[in-house]
Amino acid sequence: MTFHSRLTALLGSANVLVDHDAQSYLTDWRKLRTGRALAVARPGTTEEVAALVRLCAAEGVPIVPQGGNTGQVAAATPDESATALVVSLERMNRVREIDVANDTITVEAGCILAAVQDAAREAGRLFPLSLGAEGSCQIGGNLSTNAGGIKVLRYGNARELTLGLEVVTAEGAIWNGLAGLRKDNTGYDLRDLYIGAEGTLGIITAATLKLYPLPAAEHTAFLALRTLPDASAVLAAARAALGDALVAFEVMSGPALALVAARFPEQRLPLTDIADDVAWFALVETAGAAEDDERLMATLAEAMEEGRVVDAAVAGSDAQRAAMWRLRESITLAISETGPCIKHDVSLPRSRMDSFVAASDADLAMLYPGARLIVFGHLGDGNLHYNVLGPEGASRADVAAMSPAVQRMVHDRVVAAGGSISAEQGIGWARIDDLRRYKDPVALDLMHRVKAALDPRGIMNPGKVLAPETAPQPVPDPVP
Ligand SMILES: Cc1cc2nc3c(=O)[nH]c(=O)nc-3n(C[C@H](O)[C@H](O)[C@H](O)COP(=O)(O)OP(=O)(O)OC[C@H]3O[C@@H](n4cnc5c(N)ncnc54)[C@H](O)[C@@H]3O)c2cc1C
Repeated sequence: MTFHSRLTALLGSANVLVDHDAQSYLTDWRKLRTGRALAVARPGTTEEVAALVRLCAAEGVPIVPQGGNTGQVAAATPDESATALVVSLERMNRVREIDVANDTITVEAGCILAAVQDAAREAGRLFPLSLGAEGSCQIGGNLSTNAGGIKVLRYGNARELTLGLEVVTAEGAIWNGLAGLRKDNTGYDLRDLYIGAEGTLGIITAATLKLYPLPAAEHTAFLALRTLPDASAVLAAARAALGDALVAFEVMSGPALALVAARFPEQRLPLTDIADDVAWFALVETAGAAEDDERLMATLAEAMEEGRVVDAAVAGSDAQRAAMWRLRESITLAISETGPCIKHDVSLPRSRMDSFVAASDADLAMLYPGARLIVFGHLGDGNLHYNVLGPEGASRADVAAMSPAVQRMVHDRVVAAGGSISAEQGIGWARIDDLRRYKDPVALDLMHRVKAALDPRGIMNPGKVLAPETAPQPVPDPVP
């Protein structure tokens, strides 16, 4: 029997896609890479995932797990060799259990993030992971990238929201680690190895996630500011005044919102008559008690008196809140529809953000005249999307030629400031060289050993995160 016929016998022919039916799974969201695959497999149960991994392990077929394919580093795309099997988790989309008394929800990996939020809300609870791609990304992808999003400031990233996992190992065994426990010190924490592994260690098939009380009230404000240091000062004041009630503090540069206005003219800024010296905007959200509104207003009034906030609009309805967030969440799409972009997803100690941006902006003006900086991000988390669009009319090839020098400059500055070259999007295929350059060599060595232990045949998403050539050389036998 051929590999294909065994796969079809296992999953049914409707769930083994080839040729035209497989095409939409073979290009990543940013169109960085189009690969080829033996087929796209769509298992419907954990047992089917385990059986197909065993089949691949026996035949030496590489596996590329795929969720909603919204990742930004081409981690869910196969290479061009047509030797790998893409495994889409999209059919595994059941909510298995909501334990309201334990504040947990157990879902299959293919559940769309927005569906998990909805299921929690129907049970009177909040699942706080929230990001622009939530209508199409899947929980399995969110955990495998340790996704961040807009509410990390209060609730943490995907790792901090996860209590348990069910995983099919690279050898096809099923690890049932779905316990909804907040305390469990029985040895090494395997859960945290699979979270953020970008599909290179095994396939996550289900997860038990933390739920929170639904906030009694939410308040959202949109601010116009002159400088990023002003935004940092307002963030510090808001944290001091609001504590845990402050759930989001996002910043957007003027050019980022100008791009949204140009691409999506139906979207309106909530402020009119914006002063010429306004160069930044911020989106601030609280979630908690009704009184938070007064504390937020007092913080904003003080910031306006001090001249740090030039103007502010407070959402008066859910529709206005949604419109403010739509502006923020449209930036990524506006960039991708405008032209080729050199993207950076960096994190820094919050105390060093302002100096990093000032120095990088100055370097970039010299290095790439005419390039357009589209900066936005999660200021509260010290995470900026420092994006460089080519000059008006620049071709994809022009921008690609500048990309190595620009990335090197930005990432050198980030690392010198004690930051990370990947805050929330992962390494995947696109940032593999940067990981090799900047990661502590001992950490890189330990990562290779973990990979070799958990994926001894090297079939899980090869060529992602770790470049095979950086694997440590075997220690030679001592000379007799
Ligand atoms: C408009 C937009 C806004 C975004 N905003 C944010 C943001 O604010 N914060 C943020 O962190 N990201 C953001 N992203 C990036 C992206 O949405 C996240 O990385 C998301 O977590 C990816 O989920 P996915 O299901 O699409 O995964 P995919 O892209 O399909 O896969 C991502 C990685 O996970 C692996 N994988 C997927 N499913 C599994 C599984 N079940 N088991 C093992 N491995 C698996 C893949 O092999 C790949 O390595 C944004 C993307 C877009 C398009």
